Amino acid sequence: MNIAIDGPAGAGKSTIAKILANKMKILYLDTGAMYRGVAYYIIKKGINPEDREKVEIVLDEISMDIKYHDNIQSVWVNGENISPFIRENYISMAASTVSKYPKVRLKLVEIQREIAEKSDCVLDGRDIGTFVLPKAEYKIFLTASPEVRANRRYLELIDRGQKQPYNQILEEIVTRDYQDTHRDFAPLKQAEDAILLDTSDLSIEEVARSIENICKF
Ligand code: C5P
Repeated sequence: MNIAIDGPAGAGKSTIAKILANKMKILYLDTGAMYRGVAYYIIKKGINPEDREKVEIVLDEISMDIKYHDNIQSVWVNGENISPFIRENYISMAASTVSKYPKVRLKLVEIQREIAEKSDCVLDGRDIGTFVLPKAEYKIFLTASPEVRANRRYLELIDRGQKQPYNQILEEIVTRDYQDTHRDFAPLKQAEDAILLDTSDLSIEEVARSIENICKF
C-alpha cells in the first residue's frame, strides 16, 4: 500500500507523512532528500547546477542508497551519509534546478519505485501521484498560501536558533514553486484523482485527522 503526498515546499508534507507513517507503522520516503543529495554532490564537485551537460555526466558517478535506522531515513551518496548537509537554502534551490533534468529524475524515480514496491510506504514529493506511482492507493495534494508557508519556515528557523528575513524566505518559496511547476518533465502538479487539502488555516493535528479520514484507518 502506498500513500502519495505531493505539494509545494512548506505545505506540511513531511510532518504529515511522518505522523502517518508512524501511526501506520509503515515506511516514510522523503523523495526531496534524494534530489537534495544530487544537488549536494554537484555543488561539492564545483559544478553549476544550471550546467545540464556537466550535471548529466557527473550523475553517472553517483551511487545513492536510502537507509533506515529506527525508522529515520538517511541518504547515502557513494558511501557517505550526506543527510546532515542537505537542509541549507542553497541546497533547496540547487535541488529544484537539478530536478528539472529528466536524466536526474529517472535515476531517482527508479530507486523510489523499487522501495515503494518492496514496502508499504508514505512518499512525499512533487510528482509521486502523477508520475512515480500513478496507481498509488491514496493520493493527497497538500497546499497552503505562499505567505503561510513562508511564515512556517520563518518560525521553524527561529525555533532552531537561526534567523532569515521573512521576505527573503517568501521570495525563495515563490521562485522554487515557479521552477517546480514550470519544468517540462514531471512538474509539480495535482494528480486528477488526488484529494486537495489546503492547510493554510489548519493545524498539523487537523491535517493529520483529515488524511486519516480520507485513508480510512
Ligand atoms: O521536498 P523538498 O523541499 O526537500 O524538495 C527539494 C526540491 O526537490 C524541490 O523543490 C523539487 O524541485 C525537487 N523534488 C522534485 N520531485 C520530488 C521531490 C522533490 O522535483 N518528488
